[in-house]
Amino acid sequence: MLSVYIHIPFCNHICSYCDFPKLLYDKNYINNYLDSLEQEIKERYHNELIDTIYIGGGTPTSLSDEELTKLLNILTIFKTKDSLEYTIESNIESLTLSKIKILKQYNINRVSLGVQSFNPNTLKYLNRYHTKDQVIEVINNLKNNDITNINIDLIYATNNNIKEVKEDLNTFLTLDIPHLSYYSLIIEDNTILKINNTNYIDEDIEYNMYKLINKTLTNNNYHQYEISNYSKDNYESIHNLNYWHNGNYYGFGLGSVSYLNNLRRSNTKNLTKYLNHNYLDYEEYEDKTTRMKTDLILSLRTTKGLNLDSFYHKYHKHLESVYDIKELLKDNILIIKDNYLSINPKYLYLENEIILKII
Ligand code: SF4
Repeated sequence: MLSVYIHIPFCNHICSYCDFPKLLYDKNYINNYLDSLEQEIKERYHNELIDTIYIGGGTPTSLSDEELTKLLNILTIFKTKDSLEYTIESNIESLTLSKIKILKQYNINRVSLGVQSFNPNTLKYLNRYHTKDQVIEVINNLKNNDITNINIDLIYATNNNIKEVKEDLNTFLTLDIPHLSYYSLIIEDNTILKINNTNYIDEDIEYNMYKLINKTLTNNNYHQYEISNYSKDNYESIHNLNYWHNGNYYGFGLGSVSYLNNLRRSNTKNLTKYLNHNYLDYEEYEDKTTRMKTDLILSLRTTKGLNLDSFYHKYHKHLESVYDIKELLKDNILIIKDNYLSINPKYLYLENEIILKII
């Protein structure tokens, strides 16, 4: 399986929690950025058949209609499978009807919308500027244009209380879309929230929110397939599953990461360098120990877990001869089912602590 990630770093405004590589939209840079992106793809891509393309950011739909068309034209360079999953991230305000028609014209078949909340106070706290009615309108426009594979991102453990999380969940359920990524707020360094000395909410309240989210979604036929990701059957994100299986992917664009045949490569986060076609920041081959560890860490994020046969075929070692997991199995914190090692769903919330115990 081979995926492509395209990074468009421009945003119309900066959200209070954001630590992604991004820049305020500036028309003067876009054409040069797209030219440089095209050049990078032509230099590094070798005509392999691609399974998934994911255009992320930043806010790819901050581009004007003409700029978006130019981007999607550049991406026609990729040879793709008929079953291509082709995703674009968008915020609500910038996804106009004319842009949706452009997405459809270029065969984009999955849209991931940054919603974060439907509550005006929470949206203000996160520095987001849409309304619940706008979300409904954008989703209707997508469906009316036959783009039904839709995800929204929501965030809990912000300034919202459990009643407001419940309201957000209820609103989500009325949207009738097949995928939800529901993250708990992380206050990263160099974000507006951190600079404003924002505190985390109480851990017990956060855990109660997580349990409420899980229960509500499960009761409504969404299954949790990764710590923060829920979908209806057959609507899991194939692109993200490839990341969690530690599969191969190209990353093109400012600050993007690639992982191809054990070579991990990171692009520069410096726009001037990128525009001057100095794409590379660093790259290094990962040794077997690192690869085994990464396979384990990433796959235990998923509810299906790590395929023990694949692990053996890849590394010629049994996982249990590399990592001491006896106690965790005995305590039913880890489970083995159908030859997959996974975290007992009851404890998935504690994935970081469990991983630290293993490695
Ligand atoms: S739209 Fe996304 S990338 Fe841009 S500032 Fe907000 S969270 Fe960050």
